[in-house]
Amino acid sequence: MNRYQMLIDGEWVDAAGGETFQSDNPFLGEAWALVPRANASDVDRAVAAARKAFRSPSWGGISATARGALLRRLADLIAAEAERLAVVETRDNGKLITEMRAQLRYIPQWFYYFGGLADKIEGRVIPIDKPGMVNFTREEPLGVVAAITPWNSPLMLATWKLAPALAAGNTVVWKPSEFSSVSALEFGRLFEMAGFPPGVVNIVTGFGSEIGERLVTHPQVAKIAFTGGDRTGQSVYELAAKSIKPVTLELGGKSANIVCKDAILDNAVKGVVSGIFAATGQTCIAGSRALIHRSIHDEFVDRLVALGKTARMGDPLLDSTQVGPITTRPQYDKVLDYIEIAKGEGAECMLGGGAATRPECGAGWFVEPTVFAGVTPSMRIAQEEVFGPVLSVLAFDEVEEAFDIANDTQYGLAAGIWTQDIGTAFAASRRLEAGTVWVNTYRATSYLSPFGGYKRSGIGRESGLTAIREYLQEKSVWIDTIGEVANPFVQR
Ligand code: NAD
Repeated sequence: MNRYQMLIDGEWVDAAGGETFQSDNPFLGEAWALVPRANASDVDRAVAAARKAFRSPSWGGISATARGALLRRLADLIAAEAERLAVVETRDNGKLITEMRAQLRYIPQWFYYFGGLADKIEGRVIPIDKPGMVNFTREEPLGVVAAITPWNSPLMLATWKLAPALAAGNTVVWKPSEFSSVSALEFGRLFEMAGFPPGVVNIVTGFGSEIGERLVTHPQVAKIAFTGGDRTGQSVYELAAKSIKPVTLELGGKSANIVCKDAILDNAVKGVVSGIFAATGQTCIAGSRALIHRSIHDEFVDRLVALGKTARMGDPLLDSTQVGPITTRPQYDKVLDYIEIAKGEGAECMLGGGAATRPECGAGWFVEPTVFAGVTPSMRIAQEEVFGPVLSVLAFDEVEEAFDIANDTQYGLAAGIWTQDIGTAFAASRRLEAGTVWVNTYRATSYLSPFGGYKRSGIGRESGLTAIREYLQEKSVWIDTIGEVANPFVQR
């Protein structure tokens, strides 16, 4: 069993209480690493270290250009270590090596991009309306950012927070998911190697229920950047409100993939499959509802089922595997529960519909790729996030009706539409209540383009120029150039 320590103030340390917890390999269904189980005093130490680093000459006192150079050096190191880190991620969370490798090779781009942006954060000179006054703005970092991340794409989703937060000059306490802490701890070594001063990035491992609240409510934490489920996000938001902290929340989704009657069917079938079975459906942007025009519905479902049947399940470390295990045992149970709920609601199971018992799945937590047809908008399987390889198929007659069905959930993370009609594509871009709309594609994201949710899918944006604003605060500076103080009893 590999044994890990966590990173506080530039030191690799055990938890103050000496406790550890096991991290499981979902493919083998057994523990493979021991990770420190932090308590509130570890959080306090990490926050204190981050606060000290924020004010230190070696971080708070360096130029934005020097900060950017550190981020770019880090990017080089990640690129060199991409394969090794991808293997660690796959062992720890069971996602396909092909997907984790692609993510790890792409992650450096965020650090190059935000590293480049670090010294292009500029204030403004305001043409102020008061004689003799100069007024300008400064864009300043917030202080200590608490980054709280989930298990499904651990390093990618942390990168979306860390790169802009550090580029803006903040320091970070990062709490990875208790189900996927190992890659975070391996990643932490690269910050040291790149030359980040001690305390700029701290990694505290443990359970949300035990240290989450302390981290969110800590008086010296200035901002919370959270990705996870919407219920957890809601309680993080409530806690943050008590101490008036800004939050970025990237939460769940129930995204619709709409297939119009003029769609290129081969592409649309592949797009729907990639939306729900890639990453074993464990992605916030899973296209978990397929809305199919009634005139092509039956043919589409036949093709979808035929393609779904060919999915190769098994060891996620093999390049040939297409559907891996569910990352956590509780999530595995939750997905199977939802399959039973869908059957109980009267949805028609066209593919899968239970645990996978294929020999190549071994003792892992596998669920068969599952397709339900005959789903209606009010069913729980059409409204609630499953976070697994379970697709709900709904039929529609008019595209406007499809937009209404797509919008008729509490979520609004993403949506896709498959059509050859430019008017329909534009209408979709306007009508769909989602932070991302894809036309004739699905699951594309980039460091250049903002990502985030409408409605219950979140607050704030990650990636692209917008993201850096989430980690800055604007200060207005007034300077009198006349040298005489007017009537002190009247506001100037
Ligand atoms: P989760 O909400 O259970 O946990 C997320 C993180 O919050 C973990 O680090 C956890 O330890 C921590 N946490 C738990 N309770 C806490 C508390 N009381 N205070 C502070 N932190 C606490 O989510 P998960 O199961 O790890 O991830 C899956 C969810 O994440 C899905 O709902 C998915 O849609 C969502 N997600 C969203 C995005 C996005 O960008 N919108 C991306 C990936 C995943």
